[in-house]
Amino acid sequence: MEKKIYQVCVIGGGSAGVMAALRTVLNNDECLFFPGTPKDKKKSRAMWVRRVENMPAHLEYKRGIEDPNLETIKWIQDSEFKNKLYLHKNVGVTSLSKRSDGMFEITTSKNEVYCAHYVILCTGVMDVQPIINGSIEPIFEYANAQTMDYCLICDGHHVLGKNTAVIGHNSGAAWVAIMLHERYEVPISILTHGEELNLSDEVEALVEKYKFKIIKEKITGLQGKERGILSQIDFENGHHLKVDICFVSLGMIVYNELARMLGADLDERGFVKANTAGETSVANLYVAGDLKANTRKQIYTAWDHAVSAANDINQKIRKLRR
Ligand SMILES: Cc1cc2nc3c(=O)[nH]c(=O)nc-3n(C[C@H](O)[C@H](O)[C@H](O)COP(=O)(O)OP(=O)(O)OC[C@H]3O[C@@H](n4cnc5c(N)ncnc54)[C@H](O)[C@@H]3O)c2cc1C
Repeated sequence: MEKKIYQVCVIGGGSAGVMAALRTVLNNDECLFFPGTPKDKKKSRAMWVRRVENMPAHLEYKRGIEDPNLETIKWIQDSEFKNKLYLHKNVGVTSLSKRSDGMFEITTSKNEVYCAHYVILCTGVMDVQPIINGSIEPIFEYANAQTMDYCLICDGHHVLGKNTAVIGHNSGAAWVAIMLHERYEVPISILTHGEELNLSDEVEALVEKYKFKIIKEKITGLQGKERGILSQIDFENGHHLKVDICFVSLGMIVYNELARMLGADLDERGFVKANTAGETSVANLYVAGDLKANTRKQIYTAWDHAVSAANDINQKIRKLRR
């Protein structure tokens, strides 16, 4: 029997993937949807986001991305568009190739192979965690309670009136410290966690001007005054720093493996380059969300990319039918 060829395949089930699936079915196009295995989900940002305060109408959710995403998928499954959604729950994609006829071949974590005309890649990124005494585990208690934060735009406002630390050693981390200080006028310590500081001249001048405390010793422990509420950071020389909140700024792991398999153009940090509609250097391969190069890494930007990609694909589908 001839293999079914789906119109659109969406890979990744975070903010970008769910919006891409929603927009695709609302455009009345077929959507083959692989939100990822439990292991993929654990590595995603969607899974770790708790309270979303920087977007209207999100405060009631305990898990600010996962909960509304589940609601949305359930709504599609109950709607008149349910027959357009081919959801493969807990399934990820392990490889992606393009046939000579231009179709994408998609191999899943279950070793099944599917075909689609268009792919929207939404596999996201992950923040690099500091390794403390050989493990990233000590961070989680504080990250879950958001006294350890990662994103300046999402959570920068948490520092107001608080003793703040930033873990990182390069200009990117120092810019986080500078922006937090300039916006919220808080005292800042930069913790290089055993690394040498590597700053541009402009950044170095601002770090000196604002008299940031620089601590280069390795971090050996985190203390809380109650569960999740950070109060002290311990260092290997036996010193301690009293802090209320800490930002981690060590860079990102970019999940670009599937884009690389197809030879899509990447920027120097590994993000996938695309035009404004989200189409990559590989025809009919689109990217949305944090994985897309040169974009703000936020829920609402992921939504916007996903809508642009699904609409561009729909335009191509409609043109072919004319
Ligand atoms: C702690 C924290 C707090 C944040 N708070 C906010 C906030 O308050 N407001 C805001 O706007 N933004 C916030 N962000 C940023 C926001 O989480 C991201 O911008 C958003 O999640 C990006 O969505 P995405 O779909 O690109 O990626 P993700 O949400 O990371 O989703 C990636 C998806 O890809 C799937 N996947 C990965 N590999 C595969 C594969 N091979 N096959 C199939 N699926 C795969 C995963 O399962 C996952 O579903 C926060 C981020 C962090 C880390």
